Amino acid sequence: MPRDPAAVRAAFPDEEDPMQSLAEIDERCRKLAESMPQLVWMTDHHGKLEWVNHHWLEYIGSTIEESRASGWAGVFHPDDAAAMRASWRLAVHAGKPYEREVRIRRRSDGVYRWFLIRGTPQRREDGELIGWVGTGTDIEDIRRADARSRADAEHMQQRDEQLRLALAAGHIGTWEYRPRSGELETDARCKALFGMPEDQPITYEMLIQAIHPDDRERMQQAVRQTLDDIDGAAYDIEYRVFGIGDGVLRWVSVKGRAFRGADGQAECLVGTMTDRTDIKRDAEHDHLLAEAGTVLVGSFDLHAMLRDIARLCVTRISDWCAIDLVDQGGALERVAIEHRDPTKVALARELHRRYPPTPESPSMRVLATGVSYLVEKLGDATIELGAQDAEHVRLIKSLGLRSAIMVALRASDRTLGVLILVTAESRRALTHRDLAFAEDLGGRIGVAIENARLFAAERASRALAVEKAEGLARANGELEQLAYVCSHDLQEPLRMVTQYVDLLRRAHYDTLPERSRRHLDYVSEAAARMQALIRDILTYGRIGGAPAQPEPVELDRVVDEALGNLQVAIQQAGAQVVREALPRITGTKIQLVQLFQNLIGNALKFRRPDVPAEVRLAARRLDGGWWEIAIQDNGIGIDPAHWGKIFEVFQRLHLRSEYAGNGIGLSICKKIVERHGGRIWVESAPGTGSIFRFTLPGAEPGAGRG
Ligand code: ADP
Repeated sequence: MPRDPAAVRAAFPDEEDPMQSLAEIDERCRKLAESMPQLVWMTDHHGKLEWVNHHWLEYIGSTIEESRASGWAGVFHPDDAAAMRASWRLAVHAGKPYEREVRIRRRSDGVYRWFLIRGTPQRREDGELIGWVGTGTDIEDIRRADARSRADAEHMQQRDEQLRLALAAGHIGTWEYRPRSGELETDARCKALFGMPEDQPITYEMLIQAIHPDDRERMQQAVRQTLDDIDGAAYDIEYRVFGIGDGVLRWVSVKGRAFRGADGQAECLVGTMTDRTDIKRDAEHDHLLAEAGTVLVGSFDLHAMLRDIARLCVTRISDWCAIDLVDQGGALERVAIEHRDPTKVALARELHRRYPPTPESPSMRVLATGVSYLVEKLGDATIELGAQDAEHVRLIKSLGLRSAIMVALRASDRTLGVLILVTAESRRALTHRDLAFAEDLGGRIGVAIENARLFAAERASRALAVEKAEGLARANGELEQLAYVCSHDLQEPLRMVTQYVDLLRRAHYDTLPERSRRHLDYVSEAAARMQALIRDILTYGRIGGAPAQPEPVELDRVVDEALGNLQVAIQQAGAQVVREALPRITGTKIQLVQLFQNLIGNALKFRRPDVPAEVRLAARRLDGGWWEIAIQDNGIGIDPAHWGKIFEVFQRLHLRSEYAGNGIGLSICKKIVERHGGRIWVESAPGTGSIFRFTLPGAEPGAGRG
């Protein structure tokens, strides 16, 4: 280190040979500087490098001469050089020590490492600046470690924040319980679940008391088990709590884990708490809707069905349930009211009787507007608003009601009534979720009511129709009976008339004047007609009265008998009867003879005068062992307009003077065929002829002839 000898002597005037002792000190300083792990340098008072230690030369990678020549150029990182220069200038200007962190390039590998540069001014006794001593301490590793721990800390902070956000987003509360001291710490969300403000503590005892009595023992047992279980079983339980501050019933899910001390004893139980009320309610709602569905489709007894629904609601969702339906006059009639306690039901009924809803009552407003009504917390003001007088207020308050829902029972676009759900002693607060459920249920009830009413109306009209049909059948039967009895009783006097007219004729006919004879003929004819009529009515009545005795009957024999009875008429008409073999059927022979006789008789009677009469009999086998018989003539035929009418009693198409008869023949035929289970109809063309067809059951179903 070169020194100006004059200056040295001036600085140390008392020293014998200051230069000598200074040289020693210089030497010692140099040794010290060489032994230091730092970069050390010295400059003159302008900052020009005068001396550097070996460590410097090695690190920078130059000789002392080169360093002296190039000075600071290229030593520092280009980004740091300007700042370094600035602080250096400032320090020189002020003549004060300076400090700066700066990157210096290591020659061996070209890497810049961070150094802490410290420069100290050197002064003479009189204060004059003679130069600077500087050191550079490698702080690269420290800086790296710092950066790492800073990053770690930041990361931790980030994780903390994420956890906090996750807890907040999931509405998850956290808590810690220390069993030894019995202390409980809860966060704001836990407190909210217990209906408590953030700034008020919850003790473990308060928590236990708040738990629903039915769940309390289960919860305490779970806590004990978790604390005792050294294998670290998790604490995981759901229970109901009544809000300490607000009394509201909530479901919570609580999870936790015990942490143990060195002695293995649980030191604390730490965990989370979430609100499960909505999830539980949704499950309850789904369950109730499913059950209600079965009730609503299972019964058409409207009032019983509504009572069942109300009972369901009371067991699952509310303490009270009422269903009011609109009556004919537009007033609300209470058709169901349920509570678990029957004495309370009686009180509510009395209340409804004494204070029927007025147009201002909430239920009437729901009915009028269709807008649902929800009061989550029934306060005094709401009760007073809805009540009709002071006594009404007192009675409602005595029921301890907490919250209420009213929804319209709607079907198509009509409001049929109101569903009312109210909570009280269960301390359950009804919410918008419950309202949505109630509206859903209300819609379903509405549809069920409409169905039940439609069903009742349908049943009533069906019963009426059956009653009418039965009445008609009864009346018909009675009429037939009357006709039969009358005819029977008429026969006797008629026989007398005929008998005495015959006597008169025989004794006096020839002696009577022409006019009287004609009169006598009229009487005889009328009596004969009347006899025929009575005979036909009796036949008709008998078919109705006597049950057919079904037996196998050969239709060929039946036709033989009928043709036998009609022999005279056939001869008179000069008719030809063409028959094919007819089957054996099941029936009553005497009635079947009557049937064929009437039809063949008509075929002869309604013949055309211009062509010889011809009657054809044919049979055709049908499915199921049935037969269709056809009796065809070539007579006058029947206008299609009258095809149905001719089978009715007393219906004729001709005057008696044209064709004799009383209009009963075909109705007898119809009755006989129908009593055999078959049907009869006609096909005809006026002027060409008619075919009467009827069906009869074969004697051997499935094995016909043909
Ligand atoms: P009635 O023969 O005593 O008049 P029916 O009940 O047997 O009573 O017949 C009712 C009416 O049907 C007859 O008056 C007649 O006009 C019509 N009719 C019945 N059978 C024939 C037939 N084979 N051809 C044409 N008309 C017929």
